[in-house]
This record gives sequence, structure tokens and C-alpha cells, in this order.
Amino acid sequence: MKAAITRKDHKVEVVDKKLRPLQYGEALLSIECCGVCHTDLHVKNGDYGDKTGVVLGHEGIGIVKEVGPGVNSLKVGDRASVAWFFEGCGHCEYCISGNETLCRSVKNAGYTVDGAMAEECIVTAKYSVKVPDGLDSAAASSISCAGVTTYKAIKVSGVKAGQWIAIYGAGGLGNLAMQYAKNVFNAKTIIIDVNDGALALAKEMGADMVINSREQDAAKIIQEKCGGAHAAVVTAVQKVAFNSAVDAVRAGGCVVAVGLPPEAMNLSIPRLVFDGIKVIGSLVGTREDLAEAFQFGAEGKVVPKTTMRPIEDINDIFEEMEQGKIRGRMVIDFGSKSA
Ligand SMILES: [Zn+2]
Ligand SMILES: [Zn+2]
Repeated sequence: MKAAITRKDHKVEVVDKKLRPLQYGEALLSIECCGVCHTDLHVKNGDYGDKTGVVLGHEGIGIVKEVGPGVNSLKVGDRASVAWFFEGCGHCEYCISGNETLCRSVKNAGYTVDGAMAEECIVTAKYSVKVPDGLDSAAASSISCAGVTTYKAIKVSGVKAGQWIAIYGAGGLGNLAMQYAKNVFNAKTIIIDVNDGALALAKEMGADMVINSREQDAAKIIQEKCGGAHAAVVTAVQKVAFNSAVDAVRAGGCVVAVGLPPEAMNLSIPRLVFDGIKVIGSLVGTREDLAEAFQFGAEGKVVPKTTMRPIEDINDIFEEMEQGKIRGRMVIDFGSKSA
């Protein structure tokens, strides 16, 4: 089968790979499609350590082709996911308390184990989440990473119906965050970005307020117009966005960090203490979060923007990504049929 593996020179090579036989608790997925994520770019560039030879991909959706012994959560013909959270240990304090993504022995697809940028992928069956009918596979692939990440971030922000949420970044993550905030949580949304095109799209999709932070002081406007946001989710990868988010929330407000700039943010301790601000980091989502995020997609509340590409385009896609040319999600098509 064809698989996209990382090479030592940081290029990706499409090779012919033979998979090992299934072990206890595993299932074999015939992959329909797999999204290409910024995280894949970091993995293939060796930013998280040398991962030469690993099959990339953690936004995979496939049909179960075969199950190993001891599998009772999936059956042949089911459609299921290969997500970044590939497997936890199942018995540590995090795994048994609803925080399995923080498991210290976590395995990640397309990083610690071979991922889904291949015609076939072996998964640990109980960690592969079923995709509901009515959600097409390309949309499901985006929800398995960007979708669940933003859904979870809004969930932990604690925002309630009718309250204001500020979303920093109107790119792929920010756009999905807005759709979940508005269409699932019934919050009022403020979108902050420096790109007018992305802001216009957010407005068109129902954002209640958009702010170009290159031209205006977002936090000041949010404090003036709505008395401060009840919550903020930062998907942007600039430190200034994190600092602005802390200034944009009202007393008791919550700032959730999703974007990953490799630096520290400024955090005024008096502001934190006197105004009771909460700052929380949020990482992807659990299996239950993903099942919920999928369901809202199947109900049409959240519609990711995707473009199908052949596997042979993989190095071009990474180049386009590095040049910031990509709008929406590029999804590798391995012959998807279902809808
Ligand atoms: Zn991803
Ligand atoms: Zn664990």
C-alpha cells in the first residue's frame, strides 16, 4: 500500500509499505482521506525530534477492513477516525478522570506511531472514534483535529448561551471555533485577525463583531462595546494575540490557549488576581469530545472548508503551507466514497 513517510532531508516520500499483521485489540482501516495539518509540517521538519521513516497523518478517516482478536467496539464496514490522540495508557489519573489527552504515556498518530497518510492504517480499536452517518469523510477528517480542538477549547472556556466570546485568529481553526461557538454554544462571537479577507468570511458566516487588530486595539473595543468578553479562545500564533485576549475579557473571564507560539506571554499578576482571570491551555480533545464534535458536524451545525488533493501533491502542499497560501484544509484523497 502507498504511504507518505518522512525522510531525513525533511521531504516526504510516497513509498510502498507492507503492514504487519493485526495484534490483540487492533483494527485495520482502509483510509478514505486524511487532512494535512500544520503539526505534520513540524513533524516532517523534525521540529519535535527526528521522526525519519514515520508514516505521517493524524486526520484520517477510514473504513474498517479487518479486526484483530478482542475487538468489540468496531466491526468491519464501520467508518472511524485516526486522530492525533491515538492511544492513552487507559489506567493513569488522567486516563480515568476525563483528561486522557494529558496521559504521560500517550501515543500520537503520525508521530509516535504510523499515521493515516496511507492507503491503510492500523489503529487501537477502542481509541478510534466512529463517524456518524451524514457527515462526509473530508469534513470528518477536519473535525478529527481542528474541529475537536476548537470545540473542546470553547467547552473549557465555560461560555454560556448569549455571552460574548472573542476568537483570536480567523484562519482554519478560528473559523471552526466561530461555527462551534455560534451554532452549538449559542454564544455571541467577536473575531479578531489582521486579514480583511478572513474577517469578511467570518462576518459572512455570522460573526457578531469582527476587528482588524492591525488597525484597531481589539481589547479596548471589546471592553467598550460589550464590557469585556466572557471568554476568549486564542487560535492565533502571535504572542500579541494572547496578551490582547487577557485584556479583552471581563472580570472572571477565561482565556483559552490553543495556538502555539514558542514563547512566553505577558501576564499581569494584579490583573489575574484582582479580576479573577483564568488562563487555560487546551490540547485536542478526548474520544468523547470527538464523538460530540462529529455529531454537530453531522447535524450541519459546523461545515469545514476542505479541498481534496492526491497523495502525490504532498510536498507541494507543505510548500504552500510554509508560504501561507492555504485557505481551508487540504485533504489527501485515498479514494473516498462515502458521504
Ligand atoms: Zn492536525
Ligand atoms: Zn494514561
